[in-house]
Amino acid sequence: MQIICIYLLQMISICATRIPEEKQTRESAMKINRRPISIVLAGLICFAAQMCLAQRPGTQLHVLCSFYPMYVMALNVIGPTPGVKVECLTEPIVGCLHDYQLTPANLKALGAADIFIANGAGMETFINKALQQSTNLKVIEASRGLKLAFKDNPHVWVSVGGAVEETKTIAQGLEAADPAHAAVYEQNAAGYVRRLENLGHEMHVALDGLKNRNIITFHEAFPYFASEFNLNIVGVVEREPGSEPSAGELARTIQTVRNAKVKALFAEPQYPAKSAEVIQRETGVPVSILDPAVTGPREPAKARDSYIRSMEENLKVLVKALKD
Ligand SMILES: [Zn+2]
Repeated sequence: MQIICIYLLQMISICATRIPEEKQTRESAMKINRRPISIVLAGLICFAAQMCLAQRPGTQLHVLCSFYPMYVMALNVIGPTPGVKVECLTEPIVGCLHDYQLTPANLKALGAADIFIANGAGMETFINKALQQSTNLKVIEASRGLKLAFKDNPHVWVSVGGAVEETKTIAQGLEAADPAHAAVYEQNAAGYVRRLENLGHEMHVALDGLKNRNIITFHEAFPYFASEFNLNIVGVVEREPGSEPSAGELARTIQTVRNAKVKALFAEPQYPAKSAEVIQRETGVPVSILDPAVTGPREPAKARDSYIRSMEENLKVLVKALKD
């Protein structure tokens, strides 16, 4: 549509520049022909204007993100770029996509999208099905190219350094897919990466001096985070959300808490903390909330800072729970 529009406008401009030349050479003929040319020009201008107006929704670049952390990164990279729509495939309350099943509405949304931003590394097990929805769908995998320190663990974004790398990969993918806005994406990504790096620095300053670094987490979301800030995850209460630990597993975790002198159990805001509460009752170690930043508000203005806010809150919780 845009090409047709430009072509029509070029035609109009060529016609308009021809009139004076013809006026010089064939003035009498022009007197006769000017009116039809004017009518044609007016018609073309109206047509071109209609085409330009009509193309707005059609040419909008539709960027779909698999789940909340990808949505937040995409919003920061894309910013308020006109003509680019950013949406989240799954509801912002869904959390991690372990074993997520696509709904008919999801399939429809994938079919209508131009770009699909996924975390990759096994988080979106439905990715092949997603690709079948549209042959034109361009997929950006945020974790692509990263050396995963924890095999088969996709929770890269939970470390601030991982979020930095994924933001850069998303920006590169968008720059390649939408070169017209490449400079904007690059600039926005650089600004967000600076904010993330400042956050990481602030967290290191607050956490590096802690003596007791043993923690127990809720599901397998935190190894990258713990590695970044030198925390030791000595136990995981539920390996996958919703998979209740057996009595034997709970007993072993309780023993680990006692042996490793764990000072804090970390549940997550997205999942019930029932098992963690059992351990708290048995050991007297309090349960705190550590957020893997997988849920938050949908409104772009609020969602943009959601990751940074979650990490700042995590920092407060960790310092409070682990300080001597
Ligand atoms: Zn997870």
